Amino acid sequence: MNSTSNKRIALISVHGDPAIEIGREEAGGQNVYVRQVGEALSQLGWEVDMFSRKVSADQDNIVQHNPRCRTIRLTAGPVEFVPRDHGFQYLPEFVKQLLKFQKENGIKYEVVHTNYWLSSWVGLQLKKIQGSKQVHTYHSLGIIKYNTIDNIPLVASQRLAVERKVLETAERIVATSPQEKHHMRTLVSQQGNIDIIPCGTNIKHFGSVDRDTARAALGFDADAKVVLYVGRFDPRKGIETLVRAVRESKFFGDKNLKLIIGGGSTPGNSDGRERDRIEGIVKELGMSECTIFPGLLKQEILPTYYAAADVCVVPSHYEPFGLVAVEAMACGTPVIASDVGGLQFSVVNENTGLLVPPQDVTAFSHAIDRILENPEWRAALGKSANMRVMSKFSWDGVASQLDSLYTELLQPVKERVLVAG
Ligand code: UDP
Repeated sequence: MNSTSNKRIALISVHGDPAIEIGREEAGGQNVYVRQVGEALSQLGWEVDMFSRKVSADQDNIVQHNPRCRTIRLTAGPVEFVPRDHGFQYLPEFVKQLLKFQKENGIKYEVVHTNYWLSSWVGLQLKKIQGSKQVHTYHSLGIIKYNTIDNIPLVASQRLAVERKVLETAERIVATSPQEKHHMRTLVSQQGNIDIIPCGTNIKHFGSVDRDTARAALGFDADAKVVLYVGRFDPRKGIETLVRAVRESKFFGDKNLKLIIGGGSTPGNSDGRERDRIEGIVKELGMSECTIFPGLLKQEILPTYYAAADVCVVPSHYEPFGLVAVEAMACGTPVIASDVGGLQFSVVNENTGLLVPPQDVTAFSHAIDRILENPEWRAALGKSANMRVMSKFSWDGVASQLDSLYTELLQPVKERVLVAG
């Protein structure tokens, strides 16, 4: 094998297709993570193959993003959307198809980086069958999720067992924040090798628009008070808390106040139902005039929305990382976030934004008022937010840390021992 082909990596993301449109049901941070990591690694000379499950007949089997980075869609189970809690049964077929792809193309993936627990099971099989080394990013931990929802799915015990097994046996686990690592250690297992490598953001893209240009583009007055939410419609994202907090704000009733709730949804699906529920609350609270639902915001327009906002609010009940927070911060917009998980890592309280207890309407309302009533402080928080992202959360920085990790794993064992010794 020559040196170029040695730098080959499979990123496996069974349900999070890196080539699809982001911001709808089950398409969020994980899809962005895999795509951005993949593209950034290819710039560092890696041959990157990103594997996902094909969910519609009109999807191409292979999407070439650049000469060294592609998405490969395998047919495993019905060629239609399957909620992730029902996806486990199709994984053996996914493994089979991946092995077939390897054979047909004369490739063997020495290292696979798996994403979310479904893919981690695929990685465990590849390790068993052909000795692939496994790196794994959880994106969400079952044990935390099941503590915050009422309807525990049937697949829960399977998921918890797989999540424990991969932590104890993968060559390396990537925690995206110190908080996530702490949760793995205290709630999943004491065994296993965990590195902390955060999620990132495209700092050239986010941060490319200034506030005045953004406001002009969206038709907002210079003195508008703009509160922004971006994300999927999911009850655990806490949009209801934000809506109620804005209703309690001292600025409610001021014609300059705008609440933007951005994110896609499909009528009849779970995100469509959540959007209907939120719209119902907005109506009931008499907030229809000040609330805007722009629908799915494409990545191209997102910097304009973030830059136009006075504050971006991330009211999630839990968030292992929370890409939206760092995207807003990169655009120079302070963030008010729930004091949970990875948000405690990205948002520095009183410095780049404010952290408040999750689901606490009054605390969110008070935090929003503090920022809206003090434009100079707001600007200072935004500046620190931008600087924090520049120094800590660029995809290029994330990719170079992953590059070192994979390179270490690809070294023959003897060399690794020598280096360690
Ligand atoms: N997103 C988007 N358009 C939308 C809503 C969300 O592109 O209308 C993107 C957003 O920019 C971010 C991702 O979806 O990159 C959401 O990631 P996050 O980690 O915040 O949440 P998740 O969806 O993983 O729970």
